[in-house]
Amino acid sequence: MWSYVGPPKGKVLVTGGSGFIASHIIDAFLDDGFEVVATVRSNEKGRAIVSSAPLLQQKNISYVVVGDIAEEGAFDSVFKSGSAFDYVVHTASPYTLKVHDPIKDLLDPAIKGTTGILKSVKAFAPTVKRIVITSSSAAIINPLKHAQIYDETNWAPWTLEDIHIPKRAYETSKALSEKAAWNFVETEKPNFDLATINCTFTFGPLQRSLPNLDAMNTSNHRIRDMVQGKMKGGLSPTMPVFTFVDVRDVAQAHLKAVTMPEAGGNRFYVVGGYFSNKRIADVIQHSFPELAARLPEDSHDDFPADVYKFDNSKSRRILGLDYIDLDKSVRDTVQSIIDRSPEL
Ligand code: NDP
Repeated sequence: MWSYVGPPKGKVLVTGGSGFIASHIIDAFLDDGFEVVATVRSNEKGRAIVSSAPLLQQKNISYVVVGDIAEEGAFDSVFKSGSAFDYVVHTASPYTLKVHDPIKDLLDPAIKGTTGILKSVKAFAPTVKRIVITSSSAAIINPLKHAQIYDETNWAPWTLEDIHIPKRAYETSKALSEKAAWNFVETEKPNFDLATINCTFTFGPLQRSLPNLDAMNTSNHRIRDMVQGKMKGGLSPTMPVFTFVDVRDVAQAHLKAVTMPEAGGNRFYVVGGYFSNKRIADVIQHSFPELAARLPEDSHDDFPADVYKFDNSKSRRILGLDYIDLDKSVRDTVQSIIDRSPEL
């Protein structure tokens, strides 16, 4: 229940407002008493975000249409319009494993979108104090030679060449765009500071504005597919990662990265725990016995015995995160899928 009363605590621009993670970030900022402007690619998506927000909060959420973020100056008009933003949260970036042209479909929007918003803010938005970018654990993990324990000091090894390796393309887009952001701040010395949220594979309740289950974000697909019986013949491999985080923790991480002064200048590895597809199936089996017939009968757990460790202590210490566990994350995701599936 929303309880904040008083004037907005500040005005934040959230890019990629139609996205799964962005929707929870928007909710976290609204709940905390901020005014939020979301960027979207169409009026239809913008209207869906505003109209699906709780009535009491609708006065604090609006949207602005920004086309392809890979275009030069894509964000300029947002900041030239005279709106005085205090913070920017940049989530917009393609997260898809199906690409035709990895440069056009992934790399350009990731890198040019990121450097583009930094340039626009520097040029036209002197009131912005901090930019928080949704990076990824893909910018941390090195699957070619795993660290024993991953934390914010690790960097994925990808270079421009890796964009042409299909299974590396998305990871490369995230690692190089985050690097470009830190490089921008170091060389351009803008008035704002930067923090990145390096969240791992993210599960959680679907965004209210999602038009249908086919439009669902990539990282929830495996849970949707299990609920829909698409893995009845056998669980697909858990790859590429065995760590998850709940989207509500990811949202809190972005909010706290804005509001905690000491968060500036930092990367945060945001990871809630381990999972495998078998562990997800087990949670569904126990919590939703009516769905049991849609799950494979017996299946092997491919969780590796020698899985790498992670250290999320910085996110707990500075951002105050207290992570949601796999049981709750999967239960709430499944329930939100059921709520959108009249046939279930
Ligand atoms: P979604 O696909 O739900 O959201 C992606 C958002 O980016 C959408 O709003 C989309 O707009 C927008 N977008 C993509 N390409 C462009 C473009 N060329 N121009 C303008 N807007 C664009 O994904 P998630 O919510 O899962 O991901 C959001 C962010 O979080 C991404 O940066 C992703 O890399 C990162 N992330 C995600 C993780 C996960 O497991 N989900 C884990 C770690 C990081 P539209 O709706 O119009 O397509």
